Amino acid sequence: QQRPVSCSGCGAKLQTEDRDRPGYLPESAYNREPVVCQRCFRIKNYNEASSVSVDQDEFLRLLSGIGEKNALVVHIVDLFDFEGSLISGLQRFVGSNPVILAVNKCDLLPKVTNWNKLRNWVQQRSKELGLKTEEVVLCSAKRGQGFDRLLDSVSSLRGRRDVFVVGATNVGKSTLINRLISDYSDLEQELTTSRYPGTTLDSVKIPLDDGHFIIDTPGIVYPWRYSELVERRDLDAVMPAKPLKPAAYQLNAGQTLFFGGLGRFDFVQGEHQSFTCYISGSLNIHRTKLERADELYRNHLGEMLSPPAKEDADKLPAWQRHEFRIARGSRSDVFVSGLGWIKINGTEGAVVAVHAPRGVKVLVRPSLI
Ligand code: GDP
Repeated sequence: QQRPVSCSGCGAKLQTEDRDRPGYLPESAYNREPVVCQRCFRIKNYNEASSVSVDQDEFLRLLSGIGEKNALVVHIVDLFDFEGSLISGLQRFVGSNPVILAVNKCDLLPKVTNWNKLRNWVQQRSKELGLKTEEVVLCSAKRGQGFDRLLDSVSSLRGRRDVFVVGATNVGKSTLINRLISDYSDLEQELTTSRYPGTTLDSVKIPLDDGHFIIDTPGIVYPWRYSELVERRDLDAVMPAKPLKPAAYQLNAGQTLFFGGLGRFDFVQGEHQSFTCYISGSLNIHRTKLERADELYRNHLGEMLSPPAKEDADKLPAWQRHEFRIARGSRSDVFVSGLGWIKINGTEGAVVAVHAPRGVKVLVRPSLI
């Protein structure tokens, strides 16, 4: 008897190798009738979304259909990795459909944060990065904060349209979808999932009460984020679990900060000033002299400077140096995708440099806080 090739739920090509990719099912699930992938199985039976991921090209192919449809797009980004998780090419694909930007993981910012200012920052910043948003909603899937606002926005902008939910991996998309399912789907009726017509890739399509659908797209994998580069066991060290405790350092030019063995910040030139690090509390910050930094890295990577552990050290690409000249009077962050950012508090300007594995997105931006 021939085994089915595609999931009868979402249409993904079935496979038993990689549980993080579309179409995965355990071997034993071939005995079930109908044969569906694990992701569809969970949605059908437990009303529970789970994450799968695809690379950028596959993802863009998938998105290319949205523009022709009448849809509402909910784009979820991770506030801790804003520039790393924003899909800046999204505008091209969604056409004139409205986009709600859901900024997740707000619980990670210090309690004193001015949320109105933050919302303006997000609006401004996404515009600079080429994304026009109908609405910005700050939320925390973990704490359940901001969800009511988000659901209100979805209700008021949705009209009679389908809702596409898009995001990079690890931004909290599953958590959000689960909320949407429980708020909008008729739980009495058995959930069915089916392939979204016109898309070349497999999105799970969850019916809503009114005959429309939530379309859960796979998470896009961006290679420039620390969260994609480090070993799974180090993920907890880079992704903060608790609100960030800003760590301020008074530095003289010629001093360096190491973030475990994952990155390094040099204060190359400028007046004595303070720098505030917003990184996971699980990462040790080690201060040293710039002239000693290379040697320290050579001799202590994987020990004093860890993560990565010694055996993982050569799994990361070699470091690349990024130098920035911070203008006098500017309020700037040096941002390292997935690792965090360093706020430059001085007003006299500075020359700084970041060392991070080749390929990691490093940039200067207007200060978030
Ligand atoms: P997905 O890959 O986008 O579907 O994301 P998940 O829902 O699986 O979440 C990815 C990771 O981010 C998990 O470790 C979650 O615990 C964490 N996470 C999700 N939402 C939040 C949030 O609001 N705050 C914090 N601090 N972590 C979150």
